[in-house]
Amino acid sequence: MRRPLIAGNWKMNGSKADSVDLLNGILAGAAEIMRADIAVCPPFPYLQIAEQALGGSAVFWGAQDVSNETSGAFTGQVSAQMLADFGCHFVIVGHSERRLFNAESDDLVARKYAQAMAHGLTPILCVGETLEEREGGQTEAVVARQLDAVLQTSGVDGIAKGVIAYEPVWAIGTGVTATPAQAQDVHAFLRGRIAAQGQDVATRVRILYGGSMKPDNAQELIGQADIDGGLIGGAALKAADFLAICRAG
Ligand code: 13P
Repeated sequence: MRRPLIAGNWKMNGSKADSVDLLNGILAGAAEIMRADIAVCPPFPYLQIAEQALGGSAVFWGAQDVSNETSGAFTGQVSAQMLADFGCHFVIVGHSERRLFNAESDDLVARKYAQAMAHGLTPILCVGETLEEREGGQTEAVVARQLDAVLQTSGVDGIAKGVIAYEPVWAIGTGVTATPAQAQDVHAFLRGRIAAQGQDVATRVRILYGGSMKPDNAQELIGQADIDGGLIGGAALKAADFLAICRAG
């Protein structure tokens, strides 16, 4: 049985004061949530606030991106070692906003994934198709290509150490959620592709759904056989909404 994970991706939102408030709001309700793991991914500058607020609690924290390099002359980048230094458990890699706005390739994402694992972080690998790709019947080909890049670099044992998040690009921040059946189809496809290389890994690996998940649709999505939680954007910025999704997990 896979334990659900509900992870909040704060993206580029909030201030120091907002971060403290949001973390305190989450902490106030998190202790009652027994059935799911909970994580937040604030912007880099607020990771220390997360470490201070969440240390000793059951809530995990992580970052939204990581460098593929170990250290050195890489201006503006943040290393996996630095994230580990701030107590991060998770790091998101390959979010569609980075693939699209920062031109991240499958190969770069695979190297970031490997770098995260090498420093003891748990990567959350995002995959997902655009609307154009879905309408062109390319959904499975796209998510397969994105997954295979990591399988080739880190192997099925590497997949075992991470989490996957299926985030259809057309559902992110749009209010248009994939139907539970649409999401389940892709989750089952991804799990099947992993199973071809390792049945036990496929059985154990968590595959989250992301894209306009809200308190009122979370339960039905997470109720699908292959959906093991959510990666939450907008609704993760309000403690009450985020906690409501966690309770659905
Ligand atoms: P929304 O929940 O705002 O659609 O964002 C989803 C997402 O991109 C999480 O990584």
